[in-house]
Amino acid sequence: MRTSAEIREGFLSFFESKGHLRVPSAPLVPRADDHTTLLTTAGMQPQMPYFLGREKPPAPLTTTAQKCFRTVDIDEVGLDTFHLTFFEMLGNFSFGQYFKEGAIELATEFVRDHMKLDWERIWASVFAGDPELKLGPDETAIELWERIGMPPERIVPLPASENFWSVGGPGPCGPDSEIYYDRGAELGCGRPECAPGCACERFLEIWNLVFMAYELHPDGTLTPLPQQNIDTGMGLERAATTLQDVISVYDTDGYQDIMAWIADASGVAYGETPEATKAHRILADHGRGMTFLAGDGVSPSNEGRGYVMRRVVRRAVQQASRIGLEPPFLADLADVVIEQMGDAYPELREHRADVHRILAAEEERFSQTLARGLRLFEEVATGSEIAGEDAFKLHDTYGFPIELTQELARERGLGVNDEEFTRLMAQQRERSRRSAATTDIRVAGETKTRFVGFEKTEVLTAISALADLGDRLFEAKLHESPFYPAGGGQVTDEGFVENEATGATARLVEALRLEDDQVLRFEGEGFAEGDRVRAVVPWSVRFPTMANHTATHLLHKALQEILGDHVRQAGSAVRPDKLRFDFTHPQALTADERAEVERRVNEKVFENLPVHAFVTPIGEARRLGAMMLFGEKYGEHVRVVEIDDYSRELCGGTHVRSTAEIGPFVVLSESSVGAGARRIEAVTSGEAWALLQGRAHEADELRAELERVRKERKRAPDAAAPEADVVVRRKDGGVVVAQTKALSGGALRDLSDRLKQREQALAVLLGSAVDGRAFLVVNLDSSLAERGLDAAAVVREVAPIIGGGGGGRPTLAEAGGRDPNKLEEALAAAERHILSALA
Ligand code: ATP
Ligand code: MG
Repeated sequence: MRTSAEIREGFLSFFESKGHLRVPSAPLVPRADDHTTLLTTAGMQPQMPYFLGREKPPAPLTTTAQKCFRTVDIDEVGLDTFHLTFFEMLGNFSFGQYFKEGAIELATEFVRDHMKLDWERIWASVFAGDPELKLGPDETAIELWERIGMPPERIVPLPASENFWSVGGPGPCGPDSEIYYDRGAELGCGRPECAPGCACERFLEIWNLVFMAYELHPDGTLTPLPQQNIDTGMGLERAATTLQDVISVYDTDGYQDIMAWIADASGVAYGETPEATKAHRILADHGRGMTFLAGDGVSPSNEGRGYVMRRVVRRAVQQASRIGLEPPFLADLADVVIEQMGDAYPELREHRADVHRILAAEEERFSQTLARGLRLFEEVATGSEIAGEDAFKLHDTYGFPIELTQELARERGLGVNDEEFTRLMAQQRERSRRSAATTDIRVAGETKTRFVGFEKTEVLTAISALADLGDRLFEAKLHESPFYPAGGGQVTDEGFVENEATGATARLVEALRLEDDQVLRFEGEGFAEGDRVRAVVPWSVRFPTMANHTATHLLHKALQEILGDHVRQAGSAVRPDKLRFDFTHPQALTADERAEVERRVNEKVFENLPVHAFVTPIGEARRLGAMMLFGEKYGEHVRVVEIDDYSRELCGGTHVRSTAEIGPFVVLSESSVGAGARRIEAVTSGEAWALLQGRAHEADELRAELERVRKERKRAPDAAAPEADVVVRRKDGGVVVAQTKALSGGALRDLSDRLKQREQALAVLLGSAVDGRAFLVVNLDSSLAERGLDAAAVVREVAPIIGGGGGGRPTLAEAGGRDPNKLEEALAAAERHILSALA
């Protein structure tokens, strides 16, 4: 057992052989009912309901390799050799089966006999007792360690802060015992009392065994749990460090590829400077972290786990800039991680396109302001502290997470005025709260507004609650509402209410969705609580919206069929006038693909497939293969929109009853929306007809124009003489002198234009002899005319040579004369005139 993969597999199969059920890793995003942390921080976290006795575990003994992310350790990353934000925790769990003895024996067997670590180097810490918890030292653990062959001097009692585990509040808890590996005095601080628990690098904690025996109550008291449990966690990367006899996790096999990639891409070797060491480590760790976060559907945002993601991406991009690694590079970095980890965590491969899209978008957003932000930082990093105002500006204008500013300041030995920063942030929040009051509308009253817009677009109902907002605006609740509040890509309906008694009307300006309730905002006057009203969504608005929404589902399915299964919806906007659909796909569609997509959707329209919506448990929807949006949280019951047997999607929107109602479907455009994502805009029904009509009209006009040109050409056979008949005599300093045959007038002028373009000339002097007459055109680039050169003047000067006259504009002039034999001479004179003017 040596490589990371061997350790992972060795651990899981060892515990399987001891009767444990192997359970796959839970996502980094905790279950919706787990509010303890934003991200999964330990192997035990997904098992919490079992420990609390709320749910039955899948087996009394289990084992996992769990993806973990610890935001609290982020500042350590880069500075020490063994704290990562993202790591894998190997664990074995006993729900009321074996306890301390079993846990210690199994751990010893694994470490000593399977990992074959030098037993002399293994130490154990145990709980030293705590007066406040009214608990003495963990004598049992000490005894068990001694019995298994651990000399007493390698058993170290540590206080509750280190060796008493709890969820951070009321809940299951208990003393723990950690296994340390002695990496040798060379790495130590040298103090005689150096031992596990010391802050230096000598003793590395690799495994924690938690004896979960108590429940901590809100009043601080402890009572024994009905059953005693075991939860253990071993850091895979740290285990690999010991087995591979390297100093840092970054030197283990699992990091080889990513470290090599970073060195290669930046051109800076790991360890070249202390700064580079830090940058490489942060990029390696954060690169893995952000890839796994994105793979589990976490997108950057300004709050919660989205903010953690943002911080990680931005810190990585900032560190990369220190070693000269410039964006965009995150998608490539993610690919290295996906290659390395994709076998153990197939979700990474499955969501590769999403990972690319999520990372590239955030990278682009930040890299645009990073350099300017860093410049501002340099300017304000004077004195002993960064002013709160400057930190705020870095945050607000340049997108620097406050933690990034703090880190940069710390590197200079500076502080940051956090208080001032927090005050400014609060002020800003207050400002935006006020200006966003429109999205914070709420009307008093218990009654719910029931949405009936799936069945009808017009209802007779009554106002159940009303709040006057001034400025002719009011908010209201209705007993029943036909208004669709924006959601699932579909925009809010347009519409109005009409007072039954007075005929007064008010226009809907906003509809706010509150789960199964809604608040409506209207503009108008003459409404009060209790009034009976007619609520209307004009059919001319709702119908095309429905057609567009159903067409979006057809489009989604057609894209998957034609481009491949990697196509995933990345966003959509369904409006009455058009639809927009964003999806993952690495390159532009070919003309053929685009035509094929359009054809397929229309085919399904003409098949007139029935559309049908129903509500069902999520499990059933999944079984039916309904398309679900990646990273979206769904409730227990979901609404499925089904287009015959062709497409099934989870969707809360409004749809036509059968596909023929969609009418023609026409693609307007296909374009890029960032790395790995494309956008199609399209129209249906009336809009599509209008578009096709317009196109037909244009085609008619073109046809007429073509006919006209054909006729003209017949009348003037020389009009379209091929350019090949031109002989270019000289090209000198951008001045082209040429002759042709049998052209005059507009055709000669046109030819001079084409020549000028083809030769990229500043000036074209073109001569022609037709039926014993000579013609000459001087065609100048406007830059020459601006410099005072006048084509008409040139022509007037040389026209007498061919025995005639001429004139024209400053950029284009022509001459005609009786003497074709003098054409050459006249051209040469004109050329001299222009060249001397240019000199
Ligand atoms: P430390 O004191 O080193 O931060 P911890 O006490 O926070 O570790 P536990 O919460 O007991 O660690 O987690 C169990 C195991 O998970 C540890 O023994 C270690 O092997 C691993 N581990 C914990 N935090 C990290 C981290 N940030 N990076 C890598 N591995 C970690
Ligand atoms: Mg820790």
